[in-house]
Amino acid sequence: MPLALSKRVRRIKPSPTLAVTARAAKLKAEGKDIIGLGAGEPDFDTPGHISDAGIKAITSGFTRYTNVDGTPELKDAIIAKFRRDNGLTYTRSQVLVSAGAKHTIFNLVCALLDPGDEVIIPAPYWVSYPDMVLLADGVPVIVPAGADQGYKITPAELQAAITPKTKLVILNSPSNPTGAAYTRAELVALGAVLSRHPSIVIGTDDMYEHIWWGPEPFCSLVTACPDLYDRTVTINGVSKSYAMTGWRIGYCGGPAELIGAMSTLQGQSTSNPSSISQRAATAALNGDQSCVATMNVAFKERHDFIVAGLNSLKGVSCLPGFGTFYAFANVEKAMANLGLADDNAFAERLITEALVAVVPGSGFGAPGHVRLSFACSKQTLETALERMRKLLG
Ligand code: GLU
Repeated sequence: MPLALSKRVRRIKPSPTLAVTARAAKLKAEGKDIIGLGAGEPDFDTPGHISDAGIKAITSGFTRYTNVDGTPELKDAIIAKFRRDNGLTYTRSQVLVSAGAKHTIFNLVCALLDPGDEVIIPAPYWVSYPDMVLLADGVPVIVPAGADQGYKITPAELQAAITPKTKLVILNSPSNPTGAAYTRAELVALGAVLSRHPSIVIGTDDMYEHIWWGPEPFCSLVTACPDLYDRTVTINGVSKSYAMTGWRIGYCGGPAELIGAMSTLQGQSTSNPSSISQRAATAALNGDQSCVATMNVAFKERHDFIVAGLNSLKGVSCLPGFGTFYAFANVEKAMANLGLADDNAFAERLITEALVAVVPGSGFGAPGHVRLSFACSKQTLETALERMRKLLG
């Protein structure tokens, strides 16, 4: 007899980014020469001073439970980071450390949503937002923004999506998958809409803050709109900036009551994130920041290279981004040229014939696109482009 799985889990699908990565790994293990441009993670090793702090945590016996919501040292490092980079002031009770920013967002939706509560998610969106909302019994309300508007929603579109049931808005800038980012003025304009709806909470996912080459400095929502401070959760993590994806440390700052509820939830589910990783994250945030700038130079170079390369392919167009290590390419014409029905079929053809793994745009709420991670060497990107050129003609 089949197991009766919960309705909750049957509402969601496997993460498309992780699925592509697993598929590429499997094909590689079978001996196929796959180029994996699926999951986004830096190809750099975690900088030495950060790894050393992790090693020291192990050898010095810092291997036991910590406070559920994070060590005081790491919280202080996060508080200093928010002040330094974003001009935001938080106290320890306003900060929560979790097992990756993914976990932070999961805690947020679980702590906030009741059945039927609506969550506004601009599309293209990161694959896991809608499924996390569904897991928390909420209703994702997708607001699409195409290439013609730089993949960014307008204040009027935000306003139109708000209903009496709207509980949360999730913003992600610079965006995974497009690399698009809101300017300070654009954030102020979106903030003006949110100011008129005081019961709405905002989650701003700033994970790619430091992978940035926009024409003006990165700006977080509350930095631009201080009046939203009391109801915004500012989310970040060390995974991308410090090449620490496997360490699993994400964090947030926000209203103490909500952070407390998220912490209670964490205490009844995962407890504290790894003590060892917390020591490493503390070293990352408090230490020399030059490693971040060094990696950023490489990402920018690769960005320019892949965006130009993609735009030179038949039937492909790609807008440049302000940051992240993703290129989001419109492949509608290429799909039509190959007689393919959708971006899933396109990605399938790429992996089986060109041996290049990319993530279909449908998973990001943007059919007709594919996402390519350029967190790999320029040589790898060059080979991937050559292979794609052969397939696309
Ligand atoms: N956030 C990364 C990505 O979008 C890692 C994979 C994931 O957790 O989705 O590729």
